[in-house]
This record gives sequence, structure tokens and C-alpha cells, in this order.
Amino acid sequence: MPPDTSRIPEPIILNQPLPDSFMEKTLLLPEQRVREIMDSLSAVSVDDSAIPGPHYILPQWAMFLVVLLLLGIFYLAHVYLPQKKEREEAERKDEEVATKLMLNRSRYERWLSVHNPYFASLPPGLQQIFLHRTLRFMQDKEFRFHHLPYDEFIMVLISGSAVQLTLGLKNYLMEFFKMIHVIKTEYTLKLDNETYYGHVSKTGIYISWDHFVKGYADYGDGSNVGLHEMAHAVSFDIFLGEIDRHDIAFHSRLEEFMEEGRPVFRGLRKKEHPVLEQHAAVNIDEFWAVCVETFFENPEEFQRNLPDLYLTIVLLLNQDPLKPSKIVNSELAGYEC
Ligand SMILES: [Zn+2]
Repeated sequence: MPPDTSRIPEPIILNQPLPDSFMEKTLLLPEQRVREIMDSLSAVSVDDSAIPGPHYILPQWAMFLVVLLLLGIFYLAHVYLPQKKEREEAERKDEEVATKLMLNRSRYERWLSVHNPYFASLPPGLQQIFLHRTLRFMQDKEFRFHHLPYDEFIMVLISGSAVQLTLGLKNYLMEFFKMIHVIKTEYTLKLDNETYYGHVSKTGIYISWDHFVKGYADYGDGSNVGLHEMAHAVSFDIFLGEIDRHDIAFHSRLEEFMEEGRPVFRGLRKKEHPVLEQHAAVNIDEFWAVCVETFFENPEEFQRNLPDLYLTIVLLLNQDPLKPSKIVNSELAGYEC
């Protein structure tokens, strides 16, 4: 019989009858014996009402108040006070930015107008929001210069590229990243000995300044290392940052983009979409970063060749470079424009 065949066992037939003495003692208890057993059981049963209830130090209503008080203290210490401190800190930073703008607004405006064509194309009201956000972003990060002297001009332009990408979003500070490294030119990493113009890791955002400048100087060629690295940074921030601090809707829209972009991404590997640089075929993260570069630098061609994907990015970033007003939904952006 094969090992997995079911077999119903036959009933066991005892060869020998049970001894009489066993039957008497276990199965056929005499009536008198049953009564004795029942009496003994009722004798040991306990009157529930006689058991004393739990003893509290305080009356129950007072215990309820104590629990309520402890919950209140917990909320105060872990939710209300940290949020209040955060709000006060944000207000203080906003005031600092306002003072800086009061003193040097025209200088910052000139830097961005000359070196960031997207800023130059914005309506005046949106330029002021862009400017405020740029200084606020800059203030939030520690800049480290490698083979370069400290330079506020560099800090403003690099912060501007982050703000350009997130202009339509309420949360724009990319709080996961505290540090931005600016390296004079291309560099190699010990990890793979490859040459880099920029990269993003848990330790910060790294950008080659020479290549950043070239990216904006030749705006329109679809290649922009500043926007490319900020696109990596924003997805790192969304997927690795503290979720409650982020726009949850943006998180799901970014996941949708990754899904909807996959057919185009696969087509890229067969060289079907010349509008996107071939670097986009490396992996889905590079695909996202290259899409962002093309979206800002070459929106007409992007929309003409890949209208669905273009629209997905418009909705994802809540801005459309082809429209003079740029922002799609001001409520989603967190300001009136
Ligand atoms: Zn990349």
C-alpha cells in the first residue's frame, strides 16, 4: 500500500471480557455511592457572594481620575510639548529667513533669476514663495564644502534646485537629510571606484559643483545633476524618513508613478523612448531621477512623446512646467498663489 493511502482501521475486538470486579467498581456504581459523591461535591461548593472583591487603595471613581491624569501627562510630554516646541522652532526660523530677505532680497533674487531658468519663468508671487522656501531649506541643512571655500551663492542655488522640485508640495524640507556635501568637481567612491557627479546616501546629498553649474547653464538638454540628485533625495526622504512628517498622499502617488512608469522603463531597455536619457534604463530609481530632469528641462517633448507619464508627474509633483501659473492645486502646495 502506498504510504499516503488512507486506511480506515477495523474496530478493535477485545479477546477477553473485562473482569467483573472492574465493572462493579468503575462503571456500575450503586445508587447509594452516587448519592454520597453528590453530597460530598455540594459540601465543597462555595458561596460566591462570600468571596471578597478586589481591594483598591482609592475608590473606583478616584482610580479612574488617576488613569485619566496619567494619560494627560503622557499626551503632554510626548505629543503636545514636542509639537509646540517644533512649531516655535519653525516660527523662529521663519523670522530669521524674513530678516535675511529684508536685508538681501534683491541679491538672492538676482542669483536665482540669472542661474535658475525655472525661477525666472515663475509669476512674481510664486517667485517670493520660492525665495522664502530656498532660504528656509538652506537654513535647515549643514553645507560641507570639499576643495571649495564656503560660499552662500552655492548654497542658495543648490537649495533652489530642491525647492524647484518640491514647489508644488506642502513638505519641502526633506528632513531625512541634514547635510549637503558640495565637491568641487567629479569624484570617485571607494565603494566601486566609479566616477560620480553626485549621489545620495544616508549620510547626505553629494553634488559636484562644476556639474551642477553645467546642468543649469545648458537648461533644455535634459541633463541636470542638481534636479537629478534632488529627485533621489525626495524619494529617499519619502521612503526612509519619518512617515508622519510627510505628505502621505505624495508617498502613495510616488508609488503609483513607480508602477505606471514600469512599461516605459521596460521599453527604455529596448531603446523605445529616445526622449529620456539612456541612463534611465539602469534601474527604476534612475528612471525616476531622469524623468524629473526631462520633465523640467524638456517638458514639451516629454509631453508629446509620453503624455500619460508626463501627466502622472504633473499630478505627483503638483506642478506643470508648461503652464505659466505652474502650480496645479494650491491647497496641496500649502499656500495661496
Ligand atoms: Zn542617479
